[in-house]
Amino acid sequence: MECLFCKIINREIPGDIVYEDDEVLAFNDLNPQAPTHILIIPKKHIATLNDIEESDLATIGRLQYTAAQIAKEKGFADEGYRVVMNCNDMGGQTVYHIHMHLMGGREFTWPAG
Ligand code: 5GP
Ligand code: ZN
Repeated sequence: MECLFCKIINREIPGDIVYEDDEVLAFNDLNPQAPTHILIIPKKHIATLNDIEESDLATIGRLQYTAAQIAKEKGFADEGYRVVMNCNDMGGQTVYHIHMHLMGGREFTWPAG
């Protein structure tokens, strides 16, 4: 398995892990774009948002739930934060294992670049 994020899940390469359960893993982004920038991923390898199957829906919901729980723990849930999932080249996806970016601790503009 060549997938970078599967290697983090399997502890083949280090990840700065902040949360883990049976279905999801959360770890600090290597190149943070905000004071807090955490990636939340399913443990199941899913390459892109287009590859989500109906049987994955509970796990996908858990990504969002985990993001909110971490935002509360970090103390920026009420002031607000940004979650982003990029899909394929035009969407800016560079790692082909789906991941939710959780960014907080600064103000974000809209529309995203
Ligand atoms: P994408 O562009 O696919 O939406 O986001 C990929 C993210 O993964 C980027 O924010 C990038 O900084 C992060 N990233 C790439 N390689 C690594 C790595 O080896 N470890 C960690 N923790 N993050 C990574
Ligand atoms: Zn993977």
